[in-house]
Amino acid sequence: MLQHLDMTTHYNLIKQVTKSVRNLKLRVRIDRSWDHFLVGNETLLSKDMILIDEKGDQINASIPMEIYPQFKEKVQDGSVGKRYKFKAKISDIDNKYNWHYNCCESDQCRRKVELKYPEWWCDYCSISMKEPTKRYKVQFEIEDSTCKKLITTFDDEAEYLLQRPLDELLKIEKQENGFDLVSEILEEPIGKEYEFEVRITKYNCENGKDSSLTV
Ligand SMILES: [Zn+2]
Repeated sequence: MLQHLDMTTHYNLIKQVTKSVRNLKLRVRIDRSWDHFLVGNETLLSKDMILIDEKGDQINASIPMEIYPQFKEKVQDGSVGKRYKFKAKISDIDNKYNWHYNCCESDQCRRKVELKYPEWWCDYCSISMKEPTKRYKVQFEIEDSTCKKLITTFDDEAEYLLQRPLDELLKIEKQENGFDLVSEILEEPIGKEYEFEVRITKYNCENGKDSSLTV
């Protein structure tokens, strides 16, 4: 994984990088890389990475998806873009109090909407709506023999793990002891083992970045 982006002899060091310097040549290796997705959406925004040079200095880099194909071959650290399947146990739930979110009514968008009283507003679509759509967004902590990490599950995955559609949970929440009942349901997957598929590099395991998942 020692991948040199540029092998020319004249190059700058990361500590020489300033806002005013342009056309830098850095000789670095990719320490970690991951796919940057829009939350609640399958849209890939960029390939992000941490670069490290011979002095051990680090810098964040981000290649927007529009130009990523030009760089793809140079940015291979051996695992970029691959899907990993692994078995892991769900060890905790991270957002017991905030397990769903209000999103745009457009199926193509599904981004988070803001309450601009008395309506809800989607910044991306520039539309307002009377009622937002509610979607699952449940964060679980999972662990296997090598690491612990947080994963974010959305509609289908969360519904599978919790064995209930979102509407049912929302109804239960409205009952008198609804909060406790929902808490119990959210904790049901804890201790169980599932097969996960993640679309990230193995280095994400170390820095705990979340990812989308298929069970
Ligand atoms: Zn929208």
